[in-house]
Amino acid sequence: MAVRIIIGLALTVAAFAFAGRRLWWLYRVARTGQPAPERVAAVRGHPGRDASVEATEVIGQRKLLQWTVPGVAHALTFWGFIVLLLTILEAYGDLFSRTFAIPWIGHWPVIGFIEDLFAVGVLAGIITFAVIRLRNNPKREGRDSRFSGSHTGAAWLVLLGIFLVIATLLLYRGAQINTGVFPYAHGAFASQIVANWLAPLGTGVNSVLETVFILAQLAVILGFLVFITYSKHLHIILAPVNVLYSRRPDGLGALQAMRSNGKVLDFEEADPDTDVFGRGKIEDFTWKGFLDMGTCTECGRCQSQCPAWVTGKPLSPKMVMLDLRDHALKKAPYLLAATDEERESLPDHIKAEAERPLVGTADANGVIDPDVIWSCTNCGACVHECPVDIEHIDHIDDMRRYQVLIESAFPIEAAGMLKNLENKGDPWGMGEARRAEWISELDFEVPVVDGKIPDDTEYLFWVGCAGALEDRARKTTKAIATLLDTAGVKFAVLGPAETCTGDPARRMGNEFVFSMLAQQNVETLNEAGARTIVASCPHCFNALANEYPQLGGNYQVIHHTQLLSRLVAEGKLTPVTPVDEKITYHDPCFLGRHNKVFSPPREILEQVPGVRSQEMHRCKERGFCCGAGGARMWMEERIGKRINIERIEEALGTGPDTISTACPYCLVMLGDAISAKKSSGEASESLEIVDVATLLARSVTPAVSPAASAVPGGSAASAPGASGAPDGSAAPDGSAAPDGAASADGSAPPGPAAPPAAET
Ligand code: SF4
Ligand code: SF4
Repeated sequence: MAVRIIIGLALTVAAFAFAGRRLWWLYRVARTGQPAPERVAAVRGHPGRDASVEATEVIGQRKLLQWTVPGVAHALTFWGFIVLLLTILEAYGDLFSRTFAIPWIGHWPVIGFIEDLFAVGVLAGIITFAVIRLRNNPKREGRDSRFSGSHTGAAWLVLLGIFLVIATLLLYRGAQINTGVFPYAHGAFASQIVANWLAPLGTGVNSVLETVFILAQLAVILGFLVFITYSKHLHIILAPVNVLYSRRPDGLGALQAMRSNGKVLDFEEADPDTDVFGRGKIEDFTWKGFLDMGTCTECGRCQSQCPAWVTGKPLSPKMVMLDLRDHALKKAPYLLAATDEERESLPDHIKAEAERPLVGTADANGVIDPDVIWSCTNCGACVHECPVDIEHIDHIDDMRRYQVLIESAFPIEAAGMLKNLENKGDPWGMGEARRAEWISELDFEVPVVDGKIPDDTEYLFWVGCAGALEDRARKTTKAIATLLDTAGVKFAVLGPAETCTGDPARRMGNEFVFSMLAQQNVETLNEAGARTIVASCPHCFNALANEYPQLGGNYQVIHHTQLLSRLVAEGKLTPVTPVDEKITYHDPCFLGRHNKVFSPPREILEQVPGVRSQEMHRCKERGFCCGAGGARMWMEERIGKRINIERIEEALGTGPDTISTACPYCLVMLGDAISAKKSSGEASESLEIVDVATLLARSVTPAVSPAASAVPGGSAASAPGASGAPDGSAAPDGSAAPDGAASADGSAPPGPAAPPAAET
């Protein structure tokens, strides 16, 4: 007995010493990052909410269960280990007394049954994981495997470790049954089966086996404890902490304000010597960033849904986290060194790691390739999929911020857009005077706010740059205005006083230009007394609703599909004219995943007589990006397959007459893809993409005929400012400029930031 106790306790002390030392070291590394007081304050301020998040995300395994088979397997393993804590307690108790039973539980057979049930559940879980890993073998599947790039050797070791935990558990319990010291007389069905196998060996051998397998069980569990602190399975310890400090309700919607040394950066007072501008080196990440890196389970769910990765680009959100983590761990001794002398005395390979640029090409030995960060569309699929609430977009856009603000290194074709935003307030540089032109194309009055918004105005209609200036989006704008007028809704617009929300600048990383534009808009809106805003562009909607509060702009913001769906439900708009078409709806990322508006556009389509809706395979929370977000709309797509082509091919698979959406960016990107498919003969000439509002207008307002309001791909978009019958129809003279790239007088808008041309 004494030997069992000594061995058991010695193993325990050694394992806790090794694991504790490693965890302390990791904690110190994370503390070299920037402070994140806002995360601490958020947790301190909402104990009830945080407890409920832990209950649903960690205990309830909510995000794991988004994928049914691996989710159930993980839940079985996770819950199994929680229940099996009782068996660990029993094993330690048995070291001291062979007749040990847990106080209060005693010999209650239900517990013996539950322990065995979960032991078998864990076995079923790891067998499922093994099959999943064999079927997704990266050596065979290459990029298509979600485990491509993950440390698969460590994963197999963990599966083996878990198997050994269960195997030694059942073996020692079986031997206990045979020696008559098992705490539960009935119920432990799996242990009983093992006992039957061991019974022929006799009581004496079983007595020895009991000791051997109890010590083996403790050794495996303690070895596992040490192993996880050195492997991707660190997530077992870190995931609950990461979930606790993650953004609420998730890492989507607003991009976080730029912070330096824990405070929101004020550009007027910023000091280039002491302030941090985005992330230019690993220690510029906050401790929460380090926590994200350490928590990644390498499951590859994010990678498998990333439109950039799926279309052959170098960006994998998983590999971003792993590359940052590997670099942080290699540079750690440098980060932890207290003095210059200490740093100088470090081995050369550590000093070399410390000198690597965070973002740089392979030639420059960069940690993250520039093409990686510039491939991101900010679509949010990675954040939505991640079971441990990692905030990929924040990290990628923070790296962009440093590149843009400090290095001036970004895709050159986006320079025109940034310049136009700064000088003219819209990405195409058309200027404020053109913003109200669409109003003159309507046959009713649209009030333009001059000073205060009149008291009887229900909504301020935020038109957006595309909605005011880009020909395809202007058709949507006119359809929305027509519907609101038909429904008797009192609305007004800012007209020339509206300027870009700054979303493209912010997503590019140019926080300076974003702040400038956003502050100007907040001032305008506050002076006008804006309270309730309806926005047609999901990017404007997201900025106004989720980001402007960071600058003191607090408004109730809804998307036009939400308002129109409500007006239909209230009987203020009655779709009567049949639209006899098969329609597939494309979810804009910034409306759907970022802001959870999935139902209203679908409800509108349901109410239009004649419409037959067909969902694409990737829809709603799993919707696939059009390729325009994250300011990608203003960058060339040089690597891999075009994202809009990938999406349109999926749409074509549903055999649609029409594709609908609810975002001007998606309208342009998918319109261009349709044009390309028409050119290659893969899409019917009659296929069109229209906003849901336009479809509704065709049914409510028969004057908005399909021929007049169609957007037949990107090829027939008429000149901004030149188009438009009052019903949102095409240019009166029937003229069309290529891809909306021409201005009213036929000249090209200034700079390279014209609405993207149709590309093949
Ligand atoms: S936001 Fe979208 S494009 Fe960017 S890394 Fe995540 S999944 Fe990929
Ligand atoms: S970032 Fe999240 S989803 Fe992606 S591999 Fe890591 S844990 Fe999985």
